Amino acid sequence: MASKLGIVVPCYNEQEVLRETIKQLTAIIEKMVAKGMISSDSKMFYIDDGSKDKTWNIIDECSKSNKYVCGVKLAHNSGHQNALIAGLSVGVDYCDALISIDADLQDDIDVIEEMVDKFNHGIEIVYGVRDSRTTDTFFKKTTALTFYKLMNSLGAKTVYNHADYRLMSKRAVKHLLEFNERNLFIRGIVPLIGYETGTVYYARKARMAGESKYPLRKMLSFAIDGITSFSIRPIRLIYVVGIIMLITTLAVALYVLISHFCGQTVQGWTSLMLSLWFIGSLILISLGVIGEYIGKIYIEVKNRPRFIIEKSIIDNNEKDYQ
Ligand code: UDP
Ligand code: MG
Repeated sequence: MASKLGIVVPCYNEQEVLRETIKQLTAIIEKMVAKGMISSDSKMFYIDDGSKDKTWNIIDECSKSNKYVCGVKLAHNSGHQNALIAGLSVGVDYCDALISIDADLQDDIDVIEEMVDKFNHGIEIVYGVRDSRTTDTFFKKTTALTFYKLMNSLGAKTVYNHADYRLMSKRAVKHLLEFNERNLFIRGIVPLIGYETGTVYYARKARMAGESKYPLRKMLSFAIDGITSFSIRPIRLIYVVGIIMLITTLAVALYVLISHFCGQTVQGWTSLMLSLWFIGSLILISLGVIGEYIGKIYIEVKNRPRFIIEKSIIDNNEKDYQ
């Protein structure tokens, strides 16, 4: 039997593009249903993330005339990542696989078929990856690359040039929802789930209409969220700086004492310099120690799943886990 597909679309003040988005996605679904790739019970979930314009009216209206359209209205603006999680948590009960995509259709919907094809061949997570960034500004390109490198060097493995355009199987979504953290950075969590993954490549287009809901301020806070949600290395850095300062203190002490005994100093300078450096490094090292414990608390409160079982063989019987 063909699998049920769900497309999750977070929408925040998207009245300019929404009708066109619904039209284009419906056409893709109908095409795949006709080919027998997906069931005619497939759905699209439009998540209104507390929009102030006519977004919800459009969703409501379309749901009456288009059987694929479902709507979820959030009570207030919760942000893109939370809206996405809300959509996935509703959609997972109805579908075998879910695709997340932005409402502005900057991500090429023609590769949805390729994603579904991979899913039908047993791949559980398919990443949509931009193979060019021609429509992005130089600024967006360089900040994105720097951020990616920083994230990876800090220990969070993300997929380069992949945002939140991806297909996930039902059980992969269920496991994603087990990550209970409030500071959400979904593209960092998905690689932690495991399972077989695949990639489809596409060229990112410009926004169809309306303007970006991610101004620089939101982009920065998203980047900081990404780093601080995945890494305690910045805390460890305090420790390292403290140790380096302690070592430097030895060199400074040597210099200060030599100056003192050569009689080139004013009174009080030697003891002041020595205590300044010594106390400074002690404070930093102490902060580092406290930071280590805070880092542990931080990891504990995240309450992430410790493992995800894919399958087992017991008494010669292979069992798939959901
Ligand atoms: N979005 C949302 N809540 C927000 C901000 C954005 O649901 O608070 C949605 C928005 O409607 C769009 C997606 O997130 O579907 C990505 O936003 P946008 O296209 O403005 O970001 P950009 O592509 O410029 O990074
Ligand atoms: Mg966009």
